[in-house]
Amino acid sequence: VLDAALGFLRDRVRPHAEQIDSDREAMRNAFDGMRELKLLSLRRSEKYGGPNVSEREFRAFQEEIARASGALAFLQTQHQSAVSLLGKHANEAIRAEYLPKMDSSLCVGLGFSQLRRSGEPICKAQPTVGGYLLHGEVPWITGLGFFDEYIVGASLPDGQAVFGLVPFREVEGQILSKPMRLTAMEAATTVAGHLSNYFLPEEKVAFKKAPGWIRANDAFNVTLQGHFAVGCAMAGIDIVLENARKKKLSFLENSAVALTHELSILRQELVDSQSDFAEETLSKRLQLRGRVIELMMRCAHAAVVSSSGASNVKGHPAGRVLREAIVFSVSAQTGAIMEATMKLLVRNSEQTA
Ligand SMILES: Cc1cc2nc3c(=O)[nH]c(=O)nc-3n(C[C@H](O)[C@H](O)[C@H](O)COP(=O)(O)OP(=O)(O)OC[C@H]3O[C@@H](n4cnc5c(N)ncnc54)[C@H](O)[C@@H]3O)c2cc1C
Repeated sequence: VLDAALGFLRDRVRPHAEQIDSDREAMRNAFDGMRELKLLSLRRSEKYGGPNVSEREFRAFQEEIARASGALAFLQTQHQSAVSLLGKHANEAIRAEYLPKMDSSLCVGLGFSQLRRSGEPICKAQPTVGGYLLHGEVPWITGLGFFDEYIVGASLPDGQAVFGLVPFREVEGQILSKPMRLTAMEAATTVAGHLSNYFLPEEKVAFKKAPGWIRANDAFNVTLQGHFAVGCAMAGIDIVLENARKKKLSFLENSAVALTHELSILRQELVDSQSDFAEETLSKRLQLRGRVIELMMRCAHAAVVSSSGASNVKGHPAGRVLREAIVFSVSAQTGAIMEATMKLLVRNSEQTA
């Protein structure tokens, strides 16, 4: 499966990365290519059709797809995460209905980052006969026009959260915003949702989670999301190397070698931390996520600097990689990740105190 994936990324994605970033049709071609090759459910268990690639292979795939096209990586990861979430947490009826179709005919996005926000919940669920009434805002849902449904997360009065499957189109009780104008990855088509007395029937409830689950889940995932930043950093280094060859400048080649060395050490630390979910090591893992984000930004910046003025021309890969790095700096961000990243960005914290 992964050999096919790498060939696909090399031949059908990387050469079109600029169009995929900005043009929905190009994105659709790339996404449909993944569908044809059955690459959309890589972590699905054998019971529902597999291929259930190993954790190590899956993270390597995430890096390679982010290296080839950040926008495609971002779009498809919403669906791959939905496959994993349903596989891990959904009731058997939902698993049996959804998972077998999720490698091709049924695509599902996510809309639950609002659960990370502290204070009064912005998306609430009220139990009612036969299900729940949903009210409030879903500030981020990526994949309009690509995904059929999305998993919404809404807070219950007792602090639990209910996760349900909602059609990803305007229906009674749900209004979607226009696609957001974004600095990067616009073609992945992100919208905001507004729910007003939206009826979520019991049979579309995938699972419920205890208060604070999202925080525990985020703490578990701190380093996993870092692989996208690794892939984006690799894309930046690729551009530096290409410039070194084109411009015949040995210091550019030396810079690419040094950045690759630094990245490979950090990547190994990420891989080593993946089976470590202990509370005591959380601050170290947060720092690791921050370090990967910081290195990704330096690699993207190196791509720009080594490309000179041309990096400013619309459609230049260095500009795209730098813009993609913006998204990978904040996607799945929590307050703790923000703090860990800021600590690394501020060199002299005493002066700012
Ligand atoms: C292009 C794009 C597409 C996205 N698509 C999706 C998607 O499809 N599905 C999805 O679920 N998410 C999506 N996201 C959301 C993404 O994961 C969020 O960026 C991330 O969860 C951070 O949330 P936020 O940007 O809304 O920031 P906020 O929620 O405002 O803040 C981030 C963190 O800081 C903390 N914080 C903020 N203000 C305070 C405060 N005053 N006091 C204490 N703590 C505070 C919050 O608790 C939170 O943990 C997308 C994001 C982008 C940029």
